Amino acid sequence: MRHNSRLSLDQKVLHLFQCAMGRIKLDTITDFARRGYDAKVVCGACGNATHWNAVELAMELQRRRKPLRVEAVEPLMKCKACGKRRAIIQPVEMF
Ligand SMILES: [Zn+2]
Repeated sequence: MRHNSRLSLDQKVLHLFQCAMGRIKLDTITDFARRGYDAKVVCGACGNATHWNAVELAMELQRRRKPLRVEAVEPLMKCKACGKRRAIIQPVEMF
């Protein structure tokens, strides 16, 4: 029993460490939502940034039957400022 609770604490510390180091891999928009992140969509052409609630973005993509994988979503996001489709999606802390 004691051993189990110790192990889970260690895992928690490891998780925090990985978060701090930015080593957590977020493959899908759903992963963002599950880990409590929002999505920042930065235009690769002009640098214009848009902030998305990850849950809303995931729902929007599902509604349009689009993939949820980050690397598949990036070319789909159209920049409002310049109209280019070359986005970079990053996890950001929720507001
Ligand atoms: Zn742009």
